[in-house]
Amino acid sequence: MTESTLTLPSGSWPALEPGWVWLCGAGPGDPGLMTLHAIHALKEADVVVYDALVSKDILAWAGPETELVYAGKRGGKPSAKQADISLQLVELAKAGKRVLRLKGGDPFVFGRGGEEAQTLIQHGVPVRIIPGISAGIGGLAYAGIPVTHRDVNQAVTFVTGHDKTGGPTQVDWAAMSRACGVLVIYMGMKHAATIRKGLLSAGRPEDEPVAVVSQATTPEQKVLETTLGDMVRDIEAADMAPPAIICVGRAVLMRQVLDWQALMRGEAPRDLDPLKRGKPAQEG
Ligand code: SAH
Repeated sequence: MTESTLTLPSGSWPALEPGWVWLCGAGPGDPGLMTLHAIHALKEADVVVYDALVSKDILAWAGPETELVYAGKRGGKPSAKQADISLQLVELAKAGKRVLRLKGGDPFVFGRGGEEAQTLIQHGVPVRIIPGISAGIGGLAYAGIPVTHRDVNQAVTFVTGHDKTGGPTQVDWAAMSRACGVLVIYMGMKHAATIRKGLLSAGRPEDEPVAVVSQATTPEQKVLETTLGDMVRDIEAADMAPPAIICVGRAVLMRQVLDWQALMRGEAPRDLDPLKRGKPAQEG
């Protein structure tokens, strides 16, 4: 790969002022997927409060004086409590710091960013929200999977495998299966068996294509192509671990032509028109 150096465009950028919190998405991993606002904030912040999914390469852009505070929360591991994190942000802002709250992906997509911003506003702290590229879109794009395709789906569902109850028990799989050709599942690895069962009993076919993309957009990205019927067994066999996105639906077939990372390695596309051979487009 050839390298190029980056000079950020100059111009008038909003400044991260003392006493403010910027709630900012860091994207799924590749530092190149950060927004320009996020990079500017990283350089200006006095304190960066970051979570587990923010990569070290991204934090390396922080200024030399910047304090980096880890507020990681990962399924099953000891973690800072959500209320504590929000109140810590309030305290930092009230102390006159320029605070950057940096979260993986997009802060408002399964990231509890809404709750944090609400607490800040309830405490009178001024906030700016900076969206990020969510793993369920950008991560799948790095695997060569478009979340919509005219021949596959007219809607896409983003669903969490881990709700307030700790599992996906509040999800109406039957309704979702009927409504939507492509499902993009966050935090689904722990409950993959429940998800599989829910979708199969809702009538999705055993041979429906499924992709699992772990550590998407990072050098450790791994992609498993499987089917709904085999997914649990294959996830185990391939030793796939979180963080991972599970994508269910015929959009997954497009990877056979769009796996651009394989093309960059000099491999040929597996099939130039993978959808033509599949079933006719389903509603949804
Ligand atoms: N706000 C984040 C999602 C946080 S929930 C976003 O918009 O992307 C955490 C879940 O996101 C993980 O369990 C996983 O399902 C997904 N995720 C985040 N980063 C990922 C990555 N680099 N690769 C695969 N999945 C990722």
